[in-house]
Amino acid sequence: MSTNINPDGLPNLQELEKLANQFFKSVKGVSQNEPAPSFPANGFSPVGSQISDIPTGNGFADGLFSHHPQSVPVSGVGASPSAINQGDVINLNNPQTSFEDPGLTATHSPVSQPSVNPFNITDLSTTSFNALPYQQEQSFEHELQQVLSQLIQVPPVPQIPVKPEAVATPPSFYFLKSFPAQLTVPGNTGASGLVKPPFDVNIVRQDFPILKEIVNSKQLVWLDNAATTQKPKQVIDRISYFYEHENSNIHRATHELAARATDAYEGARKKVQQFLNAGSVNEIIFVRGATEAINLVAKSWGEQNLNAGDEIIVSHLEHHANIVPWQQLATKKDLKIKVIPVDDDGQIIIEEYVKLLNPKTKLVAFTQVSNALGTVTPARQIVSLAHLAGAKVLVDGAQSVSHMPVDVQALDADWFVFSGHKVFGPTGIGVLYGKEDLLNQTQPWQGGGNMIVDVTFEHTRYHNAPGRFEAGTGNIADAVGLGAAIDYVTRLGMHNIAQYEHYLLVYATQLLKEVPGLRLIGTAADKASVLSFVLEGYKTEEVGAELNKHGIAVRSGHHCAQPILRRFGLESTVRPSLAFYNTCAEVDLLAHVLHSLKK
Ligand code: PMP
Repeated sequence: MSTNINPDGLPNLQELEKLANQFFKSVKGVSQNEPAPSFPANGFSPVGSQISDIPTGNGFADGLFSHHPQSVPVSGVGASPSAINQGDVINLNNPQTSFEDPGLTATHSPVSQPSVNPFNITDLSTTSFNALPYQQEQSFEHELQQVLSQLIQVPPVPQIPVKPEAVATPPSFYFLKSFPAQLTVPGNTGASGLVKPPFDVNIVRQDFPILKEIVNSKQLVWLDNAATTQKPKQVIDRISYFYEHENSNIHRATHELAARATDAYEGARKKVQQFLNAGSVNEIIFVRGATEAINLVAKSWGEQNLNAGDEIIVSHLEHHANIVPWQQLATKKDLKIKVIPVDDDGQIIIEEYVKLLNPKTKLVAFTQVSNALGTVTPARQIVSLAHLAGAKVLVDGAQSVSHMPVDVQALDADWFVFSGHKVFGPTGIGVLYGKEDLLNQTQPWQGGGNMIVDVTFEHTRYHNAPGRFEAGTGNIADAVGLGAAIDYVTRLGMHNIAQYEHYLLVYATQLLKEVPGLRLIGTAADKASVLSFVLEGYKTEEVGAELNKHGIAVRSGHHCAQPILRRFGLESTVRPSLAFYNTCAEVDLLAHVLHSLKK
């Protein structure tokens, strides 16, 4: 055990304060005459394993790392500080890609700036977090040690030998010629009135161990985020912690571990409720993923409430998961399925949707963000029009929850579904949100333990939601992991994530448009981080294979959304999809490989 841990398992505060002071004194740009910021005893990191968020109340947090070269240990293709890290101003006319970060050489001292919290978290010192003992202990001490060691040591040599070309900096000539005015982040402006970076992508990346992976002798560039997202250390550690200290079945025992596991599981439910802004924890049902959630609704509410001649409306953008269950139900019950068309940009045609609605419409099921094209649908409008027609609404949030803030009460959908693995959480866990009354009026689709109040051979009484829909032993550990993922993105701030990704998407779109023979599929005005395309003269799998040689992971295929690709006359596309940990340098590399293919 570390010397910074007392026998009682708590951090040795004196020792840690000493280390903290050592650290602050050694930070370049902190004047020796200025009092060092006092380090909080319960050192908390919004990102968990980073120190950038120390609540000093003097603007320290948002400037510290970007002004200390060694504090941003970057390597490989991710070495380029993205434009989001350009000091005070994000200049969209010249987003830096593979150049040095000007912030690193800025002469002004970060500590002299007014207080700005890049994570939009107010007064962290008074915020109570349900941090586990290990989180407080580990993150604080570990972060500090890490930062200190970076200040005094040569960075460790990577364990995996990398061929020289693997770390070669990609060419940096892909600059945007014209961009809208400077990006503004509401409530996030500094003294100059100019934009403060929402977060530093190079620091965020440190939380994702897999991003350091070497594939095909190149550093991994993960652009397959629409298929699944990578997991931060905080999620990985949380799941390990569960199995090391809490593992038990839940709800049904009086022993200590059952209590811990139940608290952890129900705590995760609470986090999901807050994340979606649901009215009650009872509206949150843990399932295997978005697919299972949709099937649950189809096979319970659908089976019980739909009758021959009733109509279900889906959109042309749907993932197979939001088509097949309804088709199965339609075949069984003689229902009719109608499809909302999209225009040539992949946008829902609202006027056509309105024409489809009638008294026979019993359900509208549609995606908030298309996984194949990235289109963001006018969800609120679609929901309210459906309700006007007396229909229920299911919103598929599989692709939206990781990219934008979601508020199910504002959205007013009757059900909302998503998968944990698309929002930086584990696979095998997902969520069905449903309005509480509706859930309780619906008979469960599976029977077994956990979901009952009382069983005799003649009759069973079910729990109310959520228990009635969680028969058997669920995926307890991964639900807890999902809770940790939600904590993670919440600390980064969903608005910050959306803002950063929007910027990255605009940048990537411009670059891909410049590749000769590249046709972008899905050019909606409102888009999330998906860039589907085909490249003249190449099969999509050939493009995918070539990118893979350069360590770039993208999906090529039909993306489980054949109807929408066929709408564009295609059977498959190449689909890079972005997340908040992707950088401009990675986008540069993508564009570079595509250009070289065309040559
Ligand atoms: N809907 C959409 C829009 C999706 O992108 C996906 C996954 N690609 C799903 C539903 C199904 O999610 P899962 O496979 O995690 O159940």
